[in-house]
Amino acid sequence: MKSTEVKAFGAKTNTADLEQLQIDRRETLADDVEIDILYCGVCHSDIHTVRNDWGGSQYPVVPGHEIIGRVISIGKNVSKFKEGQLVGVGCMVDSCQHCQSCKDGLEQYCENGMVGTYNGKDEHLGGHTFGGYSEKIVVDQKFVLNVPENLDTKGVAPLLCAGITTWSPLRNWNVKEGDKVGVIGLGGLGHMGIKFAHALGAKVVMITTSPGKSEDAKRLGADEVLISKDEEQMAEHAGSFDFLLNTVPVKHDINPYIGLLKRDATMVLVGAIEPLEFHGGGLIMGRKSVAGSLIGGIKETQEMLDFCGEHDIVSDIEMIDMQNINEAYDRVTSNDVKYRFVIDMQSLKN
Ligand SMILES: [Zn+2]
Ligand SMILES: [Zn+2]
Repeated sequence: MKSTEVKAFGAKTNTADLEQLQIDRRETLADDVEIDILYCGVCHSDIHTVRNDWGGSQYPVVPGHEIIGRVISIGKNVSKFKEGQLVGVGCMVDSCQHCQSCKDGLEQYCENGMVGTYNGKDEHLGGHTFGGYSEKIVVDQKFVLNVPENLDTKGVAPLLCAGITTWSPLRNWNVKEGDKVGVIGLGGLGHMGIKFAHALGAKVVMITTSPGKSEDAKRLGADEVLISKDEEQMAEHAGSFDFLLNTVPVKHDINPYIGLLKRDATMVLVGAIEPLEFHGGGLIMGRKSVAGSLIGGIKETQEMLDFCGEHDIVSDIEMIDMQNINEAYDRVTSNDVKYRFVIDMQSLKN
């Protein structure tokens, strides 16, 4: 198959810094959309994959799954997109399309394994897929999203992963006007969780260990802030939440949060891919649930982007040049970003 070389940034080993590389992009096939990448968000998963924290990383790793760009060319079967259109690509670039999850529009749970935007199996060129830290990408139209033109484009990129990861559970568990929703952890995911829950009409409580985050949480849409280390405050809120969105990305004690749930209510984990312990009594006494959720399907991602267009919601971001990515990784690791880094891909093209 024909391919073209493009500039990218990636890591050659799990201990190496990211550096400029050349990668191949396939020619635009009948169902493909070729995209000139404008911006790419920096997700914690990018760092985990570069450093092989979850195992299975294939090198070089070219991360990036919060991609915003404009269509350069389309294949002959593509009617939904046209040249010049603003589009997005998230965490997936393909799936089997015939299993029950795919039929249900939940490609992220594809029973045959969805193809990740990076570190997935490249069925076209062989080897593995390369993500958005690059000049261009070629993606099957089924995995390309339409991006509303009225939004601040730079802040749209993180919606493709941080956004959909928090939107999907809020929708699936039917969070509605008047519900008391707690968002645990204020980072890339948490700040989107607050914005969405607020826009859906919920009473939003930011739950954090750091009192210093209160002001920012309120600016983002939280009605109240609950300091989880304060036992008195935790006792006041016991048994009062309709829903908890737990965005903490590391191993932590979830039992105090279970105590915050109302009878029959659910806490959904979206961050911690870790062994966690809970006391059965905490769930049994009150028929409570702890659940998990992974990104969202393509249909749901489009719904989220359309909702953001209507409600003028984007991510709070800090823009960086591609060449500053290694420093940005250190800052993400120490939780020193409000609330997402976005790479200006022009810096790679110059
Ligand atoms: Zn991500
Ligand atoms: Zn499938």
